Amino acid sequence: MLISFITFIAMQPNIEQLKATYKNLPSDKLINLAISEAASLRPEAFEILKTEIKSRGLDNDITNGIDAQFIDTTSLAFDDYVLLIRSQPCPVCNSAKQPLNAVVIGTVKSFILLTRYKRKLMIACPTCLQQANQKGTSTTALLGWWGLPWGIIRSAQALTGNMKANKKIRANEPSDTLIAFIKTNIGVIEGVRTNQQSLQLMLDSVNKR
Ligand SMILES: [Zn+2]
Repeated sequence: MLISFITFIAMQPNIEQLKATYKNLPSDKLINLAISEAASLRPEAFEILKTEIKSRGLDNDITNGIDAQFIDTTSLAFDDYVLLIRSQPCPVCNSAKQPLNAVVIGTVKSFILLTRYKRKLMIACPTCLQQANQKGTSTTALLGWWGLPWGIIRSAQALTGNMKANKKIRANEPSDTLIAFIKTNIGVIEGVRTNQQSLQLMLDSVNKR
């Protein structure tokens, strides 16, 4: 049934007819089509399918799933996205000598009852990551402990987290944080990957968040 439906779409390039066809499909068929066949659809058909799924309020995850599937078959493999991001010049120091990585750096500042725990995602070369990590650690060591009881608890958490981050920076393998970042933002990366300036802007804006 699904195959004959695809053939039907291939034979009917008319956008209005396509819209009507998707509208008349029951939701389960629509989801099935989206998940199993999205990659073989023409781009216009794919967009109409996405619009119909959204207008019915079907799960956002399905749309994201289609995006990922679509990218897998028509674009770079996931490892190539990792290589692409890692080979960019460092958004902090502009050096392209070392592959980039990402870690979350914790900083705690306290004042009596007030404790502020900031966890910041950073993408940069190992040298810049290490400097930022060191800064987060010394700020926490100096200013984190003075709140009760959260200053002490959060400071311990931040210092442990930063120690783990430091190990990841030294290991020089792509960190879990970097992999997760690329997975979440693969649509955006795909959109800007041929434009060096936009790629730099994206990485820079991550560090400024
Ligand atoms: Zn750097």
